[in-house]
Amino acid sequence: GTPTALMVGSGIGAEKGILIRNGEAIQTFKEVKAIAFDKTGTITKGKPEVTDLVTVEGVEEEEFLYYAGTIENGSEHPLAHAIVEKAKIQKIKLGEVIDFSAIVGMGVVGRIDGQEIFVGNRKLMKENKIAYEAYEEELIRLEEEAKTAMLLAKGNQLLGIVAVADPIKEDSAQAIAELESMGIKTAMITGDNSRTAAAIGKSVGITHVIAEVLPDGKVEEVVRLQEKYETVAMVGDGINDAPALKQSNVGIAIGTGTDIAIEAADVTLVRGELTGIVSAIKLSRAIFRKIK
Ligand code: ADP
Ligand code: MG
Repeated sequence: GTPTALMVGSGIGAEKGILIRNGEAIQTFKEVKAIAFDKTGTITKGKPEVTDLVTVEGVEEEEFLYYAGTIENGSEHPLAHAIVEKAKIQKIKLGEVIDFSAIVGMGVVGRIDGQEIFVGNRKLMKENKIAYEAYEEELIRLEEEAKTAMLLAKGNQLLGIVAVADPIKEDSAQAIAELESMGIKTAMITGDNSRTAAAIGKSVGITHVIAEVLPDGKVEEVVRLQEKYETVAMVGDGINDAPALKQSNVGIAIGTGTDIAIEAADVTLVRGELTGIVSAIKLSRAIFRKIK
């Protein structure tokens, strides 16, 4: 029974763009009680674009984009790509960075023309004693619009805010609604801030939103869900999703994501469509009903 079922399952799966790397996954799918989703690149397209630039009085947009674009040129993060792209569109000639470092879950730091430059979230500003509190209301406004707002500072002086928005995939809301109607709980785990995460969660129908999770924390959150729901699937695309994908009972990678995530997963959604998960679970339930 089982080997044939696996072959049938894999065949139909391939047709729907579901690549099954680990045969056990097709059996585990029918047991799944909860699914945790990463946000950026999983629920959203992972192609954020700059939507707002708010500069501190006396700071020109050109200066802002020169520093922000130059430093983000060294980062692989989708947020960084959006900022570099914006600088290019505005025809800003980028400079050189030395002592560059990316600080997971916070942002990037480096020296440009002898000046220390920071781009990242509130945590990064706090750690470096950069006052941004006067812009708190502005940050909240942007985050309530589902945008990720990042702060730029030179030395200990704030230069302004750059906000990016990452469009939600066309089928994310449909996938969540179908999973919930099949009795499966959905959750979102993200490193992004709570307000942005809640706004995205609301628009796709996920109520259990776990935000401001540091990369190492994603594994712990999956464990917590497993304590409550036993069999938990995790969906993600990033390097920092890999340990959580391994921890979950069915790790699902986005085909357009990083190789590290794909290698850590049992299943790959080749086209990145979340409705593929609905098909996989239905398939698993149907196959094993027939066998019994
Ligand atoms: P996610 O889980 O949504 O993919 P990450 O853990 O990668 O999020 O990042 C969390 C937060 O850290 C981002 O929302 C952003 O505020 C900040 N951050 C991370 N990388 C960068 C970067 N290259 N430039 C600016 N901010 C960054
Ligand atoms: Mg991601």
